[in-house]
Amino acid sequence: MKQILYSSTRGKQKGLTASQAILKGLAEDGGLFMPDHIPAFDFDLETLVGADYRETAYQVIKLFLTDFTEEELRHCINSAYDSKFDTPEIAPLVLADGAYYLELFHGKTIAFKDMALSILPYFMTEAAKKNGVTNTIEILTATSGDTGKAAMAGFADVPGTGIFVFYPKGGVSRFQELQMVTQKGENTNVVSIHGNFDDAQNNVKKIFGDAAFNARLAEANIQLSSANSINIGRLVPQIAYYVWSWVKLRENGEIAKGEKINICVPTGNFGNILSAYFAKLMGLPVNKLICASNDNKVLFDFFSTGVYDRNREFILTTSPSMDILISSNLERLIYMSCGCDAAANRVMMIELARTGKYTVTKEMKKRMADFTGRYADQQQVAARIKELYEKTGYVLDTHTAVASAAYEQYRSETGDTTKTVIAGTASPFKFSRAVMTAIKGELGEMDDWQVIDLLSETAGVPVPPAVEEIRTAEVRHRTECDPDQMEQTIADLLKL
Ligand SMILES: *Cc1c(COP(=O)(O)O)cnc(C)c1O
Repeated sequence: MKQILYSSTRGKQKGLTASQAILKGLAEDGGLFMPDHIPAFDFDLETLVGADYRETAYQVIKLFLTDFTEEELRHCINSAYDSKFDTPEIAPLVLADGAYYLELFHGKTIAFKDMALSILPYFMTEAAKKNGVTNTIEILTATSGDTGKAAMAGFADVPGTGIFVFYPKGGVSRFQELQMVTQKGENTNVVSIHGNFDDAQNNVKKIFGDAAFNARLAEANIQLSSANSINIGRLVPQIAYYVWSWVKLRENGEIAKGEKINICVPTGNFGNILSAYFAKLMGLPVNKLICASNDNKVLFDFFSTGVYDRNREFILTTSPSMDILISSNLERLIYMSCGCDAAANRVMMIELARTGKYTVTKEMKKRMADFTGRYADQQQVAARIKELYEKTGYVLDTHTAVASAAYEQYRSETGDTTKTVIAGTASPFKFSRAVMTAIKGELGEMDDWQVIDLLSETAGVPVPPAVEEIRTAEVRHRTECDPDQMEQTIADLLKL
């Protein structure tokens, strides 16, 4: 099999193996690592019909992570996709109102980020061994609620690793905070900071760049790394579930051999939908990729006009994980659509940093024709949750509902009847208040747990174990600090 090497989208760092790119995360020139080509399936997709999730994941991942052995990859996959998911299917496909919902929320934190963050720690420890790294790898993350918990759940008690999560005190929901401060695992650290998310994020970046501090860590045989969604080790395992969804449709006789599907994805940082695009480029029969946005519709505007413009009001919505004005992973699509011209990509990214804006050429826009953008505002999202529930009894979370509403628009505007898979990115239990408000109207004085029980009753679905656990779990993390004390706090907790 041909070795795949990874290079930065901005041109400076070239020729890294997959394991090196995973260990690095972000390239030193600020770019993102991209494979030198997208591998095609080296087997007939029909041979996967009937295979389980792990086998499907192996057949996909092996094509990208070419410096890992079969034994290493199977170890990673078997360790990641096991009984920590609440169904052996890992990612079930559910038909409701003419669309197929790919439920990516059966992992530890009931959101799709578990799909990649369950396996990333294993990729990292294997990558470390392979590259002669004997240091402990400490993951550093700033979170506005979801990523931190999913990363911790992934790294908890994985040998050779540790994790620090910083979140803004008062800046996450009570439920999200409880999820984090009750996290188990001897190697997990959660710290709330007296500041906002940007303070946490900026100081994490500063700590990564602090040579003296990194040298001090190195003396203690520790090195820092990132579990950010720009890590190629997060993108690759996400390709697998799109292949899985197509294979499931075949298995269930919903589509014919070679029949194309559409994929509709509620999008924020553009990582999830980019994985679907990679699946298409590998040879998965895919027609359109429908990029769904909430009120922060930078991507809708971009796909409509070819102008990316972040200069606008930031709107807090009921789908907070999509409240993003700079979609980091879009850089990879820009890079591909300018013919992998790193210099041209770099110019646009510098423009984005300088002015908050860039425009792609007509030729580039044409190369992105597989994508189409739609968006749904908060009222449309709430209305769609209610409508689908009343029609079918199926309850969507607010993010998946953005995609569902966007898909309904797309279908009625275009008349395209291609079978469509919608990425279900979170369990409704994660956003129970917004979901129940959409269905029932005002909830009055009900507390979070009462709302969760009401949702369970309404949807006819038991409260997921991941939520039930938190009800009675003990608080294990109480550290707080000022933003400028984050580095010192790490040193203290690591007993440097
Ligand atoms: C992160 C997240 C998204 C956005 O995914 P991207 O890969 O950043 O586009 C959508 N829904 C939920 C629930 C998420 O947590």
